[in-house]
Amino acid sequence: MTNQSFSARDLSVLWHPCTQMKDHETLPIIPIKKGQGVWLEDFDGNHYLDAISSWWVNLFGHANPYINAALKDQLDTLEHVIFAGFTHESAIKLAEKLVEVTPGGLNRCFFADNGSSAVEVALKMSFHYWRNLGQTQKTKFVTLENSYHGETLGALAVGNVQLYKDTYAPLLMEVITVPGPDCYYRETGESWADYSTRRFALMEQVLQANAESISAVIIEPLVQCAGNMRMYDPVYLSLLRAACDKYNVHLIVDEIAVGFGRTGTLFACEQADISPDFMCLSKGLTGGYLPLSAVLTTHQIYQAFYDDYQKLTAFLHSHSYTGNALACRAGLATLDIFQNNNVIENNKSLIKEMAELAQRFNEHTHVAEVRQTGMILAIEMVKNKRTREPYSWQERRGYKVYQYALSKGVILRPLGNVIYFMPPYIITKEELLLIAQVAWDGIDRAVRD
Ligand SMILES: *Cc1c(COP(=O)(O)O)cnc(C)c1O
Repeated sequence: MTNQSFSARDLSVLWHPCTQMKDHETLPIIPIKKGQGVWLEDFDGNHYLDAISSWWVNLFGHANPYINAALKDQLDTLEHVIFAGFTHESAIKLAEKLVEVTPGGLNRCFFADNGSSAVEVALKMSFHYWRNLGQTQKTKFVTLENSYHGETLGALAVGNVQLYKDTYAPLLMEVITVPGPDCYYRETGESWADYSTRRFALMEQVLQANAESISAVIIEPLVQCAGNMRMYDPVYLSLLRAACDKYNVHLIVDEIAVGFGRTGTLFACEQADISPDFMCLSKGLTGGYLPLSAVLTTHQIYQAFYDDYQKLTAFLHSHSYTGNALACRAGLATLDIFQNNNVIENNKSLIKEMAELAQRFNEHTHVAEVRQTGMILAIEMVKNKRTREPYSWQERRGYKVYQYALSKGVILRPLGNVIYFMPPYIITKEELLLIAQVAWDGIDRAVRD
């Protein structure tokens, strides 16, 4: 079989996510035959460096021997079982482990099977908690500008990606959207911390004015990944935690993209030394192997649902594949690797290496900013460096970088005009160098004419 034969079959029956399928008239879809470490191989024998961790999920490489072995063992024991009325060893162990490694106070774990569903669960739990307490007026959610929380209707409603918002507006619940702490917009000379602190005043105003009707604030800690990898200082999270306590509002932290080491610490919340009321996890949770998500919450929340059946206070949410045994086992193996291989500590040298490789991009005449938080590095391409005037989206400059990088065997998948590196943690310095070189050349070509 060749790329050509598979892509023809694919394009006659499949519909791919987040894709204008017509683009594939000119850019072939790439059938992947196998993966090994950070590398993927197609059916024509071309290799691709997975610089974006297969949409931010892969942590320890494709075909990781340790995770593979754990899954093979699980497969011969139990693949799946109904998770209401029944339980199993891998789910129990994974929940215990998650309670142990997440911030203090989070000691209950509810499983779902993808990130958006975890967000739905957290929103419903927050609302339902207040309802069980008789506070039925607390129905509103507060979200930040430029945020992203997934694509099911509830998750989409609390997100703020303009195109999605505009398109699906009539289907979405109303939310309160607050201008965010995105440090791209700080004044020259202003520190991330100062800007983030200054911007918090806008959040405080909203909470003060609407606390009575607000159920929760939902936030992506430190990096708004889908929102073009925009970043801010941990001080914003500390201030938000304190304000949520003050105004009696829940804090939902969406660590779906940033959890599991992406920001340099196991969880982004650690950098602000806070613990949320709900923490949503997915993506890296299974090392990029299987769909699984978890919502961690507190004893206090859990207790508000715990009562005699006749009171009808139980939480109402289920998915057929809740707590899937294979997925839970992959999660356990992933957490083992973190522990056994001292991953967070070892990533420090990769983080430093990424920072050094990115230095030269600051000098590029079409780069407005190079920013980094841990294992996420982003390069903002602009039309005019001085005024920061962006390229118009119709020009698809980022897409040009994508195409060039593919031709050189590197998968970069820019967000608009932002090129980013978000590699698996097993990447080598030589491979990082290759990514940086291809990104540089790709940008150079994309900004011509
Ligand atoms: C990817 C993502 C989601 C949605 O997860 P899916 O598994 O794609 O539904 C939610 N929030 C954030 C911050 C994400 O990056």
